[in-house]
Amino acid sequence: MDCKVCKFGGTSMADGNVILRAAQIVRSEADRRYVVVSAPGKRFSGDIKVTDLLYSLYDAYEQKDEALFEELWQKISLRFLNIEREIGRDLQVQAALDEAKQEILSGAGKDYCVSRGEFIVAHIVAAVLDVPFVDATEFVRFDEHGLLKEETFALASETLKKYERAVVPGFYGLGADGKVKTFSRGGGDISGAIVARGVMAKLYENWTDVSGFYACDPRIVNSPCCMEELSYAELRELSYMGANVLHSESIFPVRSAGIPIRICNTFRPEDRGTYIVTAAKRRLGDGVVTGIAGKKGFTSITIEKSMMNAEIGFVQKVLAVIGKHGISFEHLPSGIDTMSLVIDNEFLRGGILEALVSEIKEAVSPDKIYTHEDIAMIATVGHGMAKNVGTSARLFKALSESGINVNMIDQGSSELNIIVGVESKDYESCIRAVYYEFFPANE
Ligand code: ASP
Repeated sequence: MDCKVCKFGGTSMADGNVILRAAQIVRSEADRRYVVVSAPGKRFSGDIKVTDLLYSLYDAYEQKDEALFEELWQKISLRFLNIEREIGRDLQVQAALDEAKQEILSGAGKDYCVSRGEFIVAHIVAAVLDVPFVDATEFVRFDEHGLLKEETFALASETLKKYERAVVPGFYGLGADGKVKTFSRGGGDISGAIVARGVMAKLYENWTDVSGFYACDPRIVNSPCCMEELSYAELRELSYMGANVLHSESIFPVRSAGIPIRICNTFRPEDRGTYIVTAAKRRLGDGVVTGIAGKKGFTSITIEKSMMNAEIGFVQKVLAVIGKHGISFEHLPSGIDTMSLVIDNEFLRGGILEALVSEIKEAVSPDKIYTHEDIAMIATVGHGMAKNVGTSARLFKALSESGINVNMIDQGSSELNIIVGVESKDYESCIRAVYYEFFPANE
């Protein structure tokens, strides 16, 4: 029997009324048989997500700050008890809360603690829909490095075929040590994709609070176009570069099985949303660019040395330095006598940047080495770029006309994207300039 998997994000689980709305969406189509949920998110701007409260709770537990622990536990309990009250039925929430608290206090660990938002709300949704709860630890498996194990998909399929319908908590599974282990933040999207692949769904619906994927951040450009379709590869580029509608790793489980993803809005279920497919056809704007996304908070380390190109093993020596610190880099643009490493600032705090610079000096004796801190990376993405001569000329002309200085340029070999590094202060104007160049009708 055909089926769809519906994954509901945190805002779709934020309170009892929204949960009832989500349940209504599930009931409105018989083939919406498997549901994956995130923990309750923000109800209003300034509100705190349950997962964030749980992270703070665990910090308080570790620091043995009993007063803070109790204060946070009260807040978390209240969120769930309010949900139960709004739904208007006994959903055994107090018992679930008591059990979670007891486990946390007896050392169940951080990942167990922060996954309880999903665990409890999945029980609530299962009771509301009157379908079985299936725990994600039954089939989501991680290896000793915290990476998802391939066997997850077969296990998901075997486990879920026993249930005609099920509700599964997102965001976690079982680690190699037999304990609960979470994905990175926002990982409920990956859980949804695993379930979709496990049951070979005809569609993976990701229900959120926007009506699809916008061509760029609507906080920067007023009412940007909403994309009708984009490819898995475009989605991966855009979400990795900061378009945070969907976790960037969520395409992997579904792409190989050719299961399309639909981004849809719980608050406007009638909207078409965005479809993510193998080869997207519908194009907006002039069809060259699909979308623009970016992130602040990077540093570039530029190394100059004459005849660098002829020195065998030069790049390897530089990479060995960052590898030794356990740091991964985002980009590595290079010229004949120069190369730059672009690294997320997260890795460089507490004197690490200074240590890297001095170790690189020692390793390769550069003529010059300098850093640009506080840069933003902006990716302009679209399959159309490969076929259209002059795309980069248009992009850079738009940037120069807006007076934006480009620190770094990187074009992926797939010609799917052009990434520029600019100073953080120019981030918003850079996105606007590129958007209006390729989507002129929307200015
Ligand atoms: N609740 C988790 C988070 O806030 C996972 C998710 O929502 O997908 O990151």
